[in-house]
Amino acid sequence: MRMLILDGKIASQKIKDDLRDRVANLPTGARAPHLAAILVGTNGASETYVASKIKSCAEVGFKSSLIRLDESVAEDFLLEKICELNNDAGVDGILVQLPLPKQISEEKVIHAIEPAKDVDGFHPFNIGKLVQGYPTFISATPYGILLLLQHYEISTKGKHAVVIGRSNIVGRPISILLSANRNYGNCTVTVCHSHTANLKEITLQADLLICALGRPGFVEADMVKPGAVVVDVGITRVEDPSNKKGYRIQGDVKFDEVAPKSSAITPVPGGVGVMTIAALLTNTLHAYLQRENLVE
Ligand code: NAP
Repeated sequence: MRMLILDGKIASQKIKDDLRDRVANLPTGARAPHLAAILVGTNGASETYVASKIKSCAEVGFKSSLIRLDESVAEDFLLEKICELNNDAGVDGILVQLPLPKQISEEKVIHAIEPAKDVDGFHPFNIGKLVQGYPTFISATPYGILLLLQHYEISTKGKHAVVIGRSNIVGRPISILLSANRNYGNCTVTVCHSHTANLKEITLQADLLICALGRPGFVEADMVKPGAVVVDVGITRVEDPSNKKGYRIQGDVKFDEVAPKSSAITPVPGGVGVMTIAALLTNTLHAYLQRENLVE
């Protein structure tokens, strides 16, 4: 069986090229779209993610700002910063890199971001619109998955999609999107979680298997139906003394044994992670176009 690698680097580069062209063709004198990122503390993975997002902004001609706050920052101070960015007419998108230190409520932070600038698509207002099928900022990782399926023209209509994981930022929104009556939707969806009985029986029925549980190498070949499309969302740093960084990034899928059984599969890294950034940039451009009344 021919197996296709769903290469996020290729698909995200195409999206970034399109975004760069759109920015280059904005009306004369128009300001550039502006993404503001807040990073609390010095978590290594968060540093890497934010650096990639800032670098990608530069690649497509967006302005970006990085606000660094100390690990011990008070919740009120962070909320005040978000309020300032909400009121700043020159800022189109706001992202607060998660996770946050214990003294800060992620819920309060997500709720504090103005929905029109919520380019990560985490605010309940935007999630509510997503559930009801209205145009909105689709949460960046699920949106990245849909853009990747679209790039490779992977048909989803009528397929049985099994999603492992039900988090608010990945599992739940992607399950809703895949079940919706839309392009790259119209699946019959089963959502699995840590209390699911007989998980393997269910995953073996999946035409499209979305793995978003954060357990490296959890999905093995005997859990996958031959010919399935496998999307690996997991990103975990696992210790690896042979790597000069001392760790390597691993997905939720045992790639080497699952790939030969599947018809298409995402690698980690270079799959969903880079697509998430492309989706974030796409949302930021839309936020900008709406704010500037430039929506086509
Ligand atoms: P999360 O909030 O920890 O949620 C994990 C989900 O997996 C939960 O719903 C949990 O079930 C379920 N789960 C855990 N163990 C399970 C098991 N043995 N069997 C079945 N289900 C199980 O994680 P998340 O934020 O969704 O992230 C998941 C992974 O994706 C992580 O590796 C994360 O780093 C990665 N991620 C990647 C991107 C990207 O850009 N590629 C973006 C976001 C996240 P319960 O609800 O019952 O606890």
